[in-house]
Amino acid sequence: MTSPQPFDKPIYITRPLLPELPEFVAKLEEIWKSGWLSNGGKMHQQLEAALQEQLKANHLSLFNNGTIALITACQALHLSGEVITTPFTFPATPHVLAWNDITPVFCDIDPVTMNLDAAKIESLITSKTTGILAVHVYGTPCDVAAIQDVADRYGLKVIYDAAHAFGVEIDGKGISGFGDASMFSFHATKLFHTAEGGALAVNEANLKHRIDFLKNFGIKNEEEVVMPGINGKMNEIQAALGLANLNYIEREREKRKLLVETYHACLDGMPGISFHKLSNNIRNSYQYFVIRIDEGRFGRSRDFVHEKLKEFNVFSRKYFYPLCSNYSCYRQLPSAQASNLPVATQVVKECLAMPLYGELSTQDVGRIAEMLKSCAR
Ligand SMILES: *Cc1c(COP(=O)(O)O)cnc(C)c1O
Repeated sequence: MTSPQPFDKPIYITRPLLPELPEFVAKLEEIWKSGWLSNGGKMHQQLEAALQEQLKANHLSLFNNGTIALITACQALHLSGEVITTPFTFPATPHVLAWNDITPVFCDIDPVTMNLDAAKIESLITSKTTGILAVHVYGTPCDVAAIQDVADRYGLKVIYDAAHAFGVEIDGKGISGFGDASMFSFHATKLFHTAEGGALAVNEANLKHRIDFLKNFGIKNEEEVVMPGINGKMNEIQAALGLANLNYIEREREKRKLLVETYHACLDGMPGISFHKLSNNIRNSYQYFVIRIDEGRFGRSRDFVHEKLKEFNVFSRKYFYPLCSNYSCYRQLPSAQASNLPVATQVVKECLAMPLYGELSTQDVGRIAEMLKSCAR
């Protein structure tokens, strides 16, 4: 077998969606004329309304980034003590708990969806537990019904880190319709982005009201500050980029859908390579395409493949790696022990995020699949 030819230019796992520059410039001209750069200006109002509709959210509040949004959600819902979360996520997830002086309690994950295993939550609940912070990993919805059931039985709040789940729906219902609050990230690496940015979607008008105070220093009016808030405001330039990008998002989704289908067609049935397929009632975010490599069957480890692909100018990512429970700041926690997290400990060795963005062609994906096959032993 001849070895596949490397790409001329490096292929990374993503490239940010960018609108035609004149479209963005036209919005900047509006901002320049208005002289209004932040604090809920016209672009902010337009984007907030547009996203509320796109995401089928009951209420939505824009933020300067997803992490501050998540920190604010914990404040708004008065979480304290201990919160149950997943170790298989981006560092921001447990860190927002730490920044609220809350102890993260790591719960093992489901071997198929790789999301928090709802059946294992109950045994971790103590008198200090106030909430559950779950992540829709790679945009795959959590078992929202089972999580809500355990939360209701113990009077816990539910926050979702929906950073990967832009536009995800279950049976036509927006993903943020589940739980008390959902965070979306609009970082440049995300499907929809504002360079840096984020949002909280909530299901109660009063909560949105409180969140809007919290993200603006708790300022009610010129003379009254009603709570200890933070600066979480999205500015007009971020919002303008978001409005321009919104015009491209459906096209980007369509392109990525085709690429994911191409990956599926090329990799289906390949011994030792697997990937999670969403059921038909779920609308995909096409945020990532992640494979799992079973070293025993593939003959090579995930780490070997990750390194080998670099020789072809393909830069996959070990996403997520390592487990958050292995960070030096958390590994002393009782819940961080590998014996509590057997599934996550295995999954974290197997996952590899492959390149996925609209500018790739189906031929590119075909080549990447060939490169992957050439790694097998
Ligand atoms: C991107 C991301 C975040 C952080 O969002 P920022 O907008 O970059 O602050 C949090 N959680 C997950 C799972 C993410 O992927």
